[in-house]
Amino acid sequence: MPIALTILIVIFLIIALTYYLTVWSKAQLFGYFPDSIKTDRKVIALSFDDGPNPPYTNTLLEILKRHNVKATFFMPGQNIENFPDLVREIYNDGHVIGSHSYSHKFSNNYQSLTFEKEIKRGGEIVAKTIGRQPALYRPPWLFNQPFLLKNLKAHGLTPVSGFFSSNWEIWHASAERIAKDALRTVKPGRILIFHDGFDTKGGARTGSVGAIDIIIPELKKQGYEFLTVAELLGVKAYQENKEEIIGANLIRF
Ligand SMILES: [Zn+2]
Repeated sequence: MPIALTILIVIFLIIALTYYLTVWSKAQLFGYFPDSIKTDRKVIALSFDDGPNPPYTNTLLEILKRHNVKATFFMPGQNIENFPDLVREIYNDGHVIGSHSYSHKFSNNYQSLTFEKEIKRGGEIVAKTIGRQPALYRPPWLFNQPFLLKNLKAHGLTPVSGFFSSNWEIWHASAERIAKDALRTVKPGRILIFHDGFDTKGGARTGSVGAIDIIIPELKKQGYEFLTVAELLGVKAYQENKEEIIGANLIRF
């Protein structure tokens, strides 16, 4: 084998291994970043990212209420600032509010390796809006790297991953298509990811919202129970003594 080709293959393998061990969302080498729990019990958690985004989030809330299901919402701070009343409605309906950075912008999130500004500001806005400091954080695009995970811990936040309900969701697929994929993704103990918004840009989410109305009755028929992400993982949804945690151990660059 020519030497240049050997070098190329070795470089490729090193990059692939580094990705696999660190930034891949399923990697757990540098810290806890759960997408599920191990269980035989038919339990799952529905989670919704990138909202609130009226009127889709409003319709989603009606559907969840009708089926008596509690879910977990990971919302960028900017969206919360735009629709604070809707966020309070989500909270008052008994759903869990987690943080999903402030701006959901790639460039902003990578300004520092620790994502400090985005984590801090995102959490502050949730606290200002519902009066409780979130304890759950889903990094945009499920970023996974050691400095981010360490900083989340320092902020008292549990990082939350999950399984994308459908690869077609991003293309605004129909409710039937998304529901079909989501039902195939469901396994006991998993966290499912849907989107009621699109980053901080809004966008039509008829398919995702409609899919929920299809999958809940079907999964109930199969004997599934719906938990919030905090209940499923057995962790706190909110930090009651945030002053004790915030500022305790922050790493800075
Ligand atoms: Zn997102």
